[in-house]
Amino acid sequence: MPGLASRLATSSAPATIAMSIKARALRQAGHDVISLALGEPDFATPPHVIEAAYAAAREGQTKYPPVDGTAALKQAVIAKFAHENGIEYTLDEVMVANGGKQILFNAFMATLDPGDEVVIPAPYWASYPLTVELLGGVPVFAACSEVDGFRLRPEALAAAIGPRTKWVILNFPNNPTGAICTEADLQALGEVLTRHPDVWILCDEIYEHLVFGDAAHASLARVVPSLRDRILTLSGVSKSYAMTGWRIGYAGGPAALIRAMLVIQSNATSGASSIGQAAAAAALSGPQDLVATMRDTYRRRRDMVVAALRAIPGVTCAIPEGAFYAYPGIAGCIGRTSAGGIRIDSDEDFALALLDEEHVAVVAGSAFGISPYVRLSVASDDDSLAEACRRIARFCTTLR
Ligand code: PLP
Repeated sequence: MPGLASRLATSSAPATIAMSIKARALRQAGHDVISLALGEPDFATPPHVIEAAYAAAREGQTKYPPVDGTAALKQAVIAKFAHENGIEYTLDEVMVANGGKQILFNAFMATLDPGDEVVIPAPYWASYPLTVELLGGVPVFAACSEVDGFRLRPEALAAAIGPRTKWVILNFPNNPTGAICTEADLQALGEVLTRHPDVWILCDEIYEHLVFGDAAHASLARVVPSLRDRILTLSGVSKSYAMTGWRIGYAGGPAALIRAMLVIQSNATSGASSIGQAAAAAALSGPQDLVATMRDTYRRRRDMVVAALRAIPGVTCAIPEGAFYAYPGIAGCIGRTSAGGIRIDSDEDFALALLDEEHVAVVAGSAFGISPYVRLSVASDDDSLAEACRRIARFCTTLR
């Protein structure tokens, strides 16, 4: 076979996707599998959004859309950033892409030279280091610990930034831990970032609507406006409006960076789907009922799942303050053997044995940079979650 590019030597598909493929295969083989592996709302896209897409198609919005996004969606994004986040962007400071994932790819492709470092707080969304490595950059991790509720400490951030740092990624509410960042936390992180004027800052706020406590979500570009011209604020409709399949994400940032990202996007995919953009504009501008419904539902499920996990001997679980994941620690299960005879030496062993023996798919913490943990999504119906927790409890209590 002709060869592949050397950049693939260090990169692979995310473990979240690999795990859900395994779960699907087991299900096709007739097993009763509960998959909590993927980060995807279990709600339907709101009807008015689907109607808007239908109307757009009927009205002939079926031609190539502008690379940076349709006028209607860009206006909706600008209004959203102003009203919800307190950030004023102009038309040349926002862009639309095929999901938040493409925003990330555009930004790193447009700015990273080989060897440039990207500081990534861990645990992290697996796509950050995979994308950085794919593009020749070097991920540098700033560890967040369970005892701090997985919040990023300013000292950990400061220690990770060096002379080759090109980007710092801040992802709150966090995937996979659900950790959030209060205004006071952002001020403290902002003080560190102010000392490093040559560093770009990616604020990935895709879970911004899913915050459970009293602290509202806050955006760094508003809280520390002096950093605004170095911040790329990323969001999208996937998680907030149950629109993962529509593939629409967007970002606001300095015009020069957005321009560079558009050069990349124009060569890769051109503009995002015109129908998806019409749908996203309706989601941002229309009724917001689903957002509150999803938040309340995830919060209730989070309480149920955290209580069930904490009752299992050998399992710990910090309370996720946002997003729709739990990130339980499984240190008490390491070194033991499952009822099916599999020795659990790592969280990967744990996740694979749990899938094989109890048919519950979760993702090993090794994919998110801090072990031994597993990530499970609470974006699943109550009965499945309750049954998954029963199976996890049975799995853990029968370890020898
Ligand atoms: N950022 C984080 C932290 C995510 O978890 C995801 C999706 O899982 C994304 C960005 C990108 O989502 P999308 O490409 O669907 O907009």
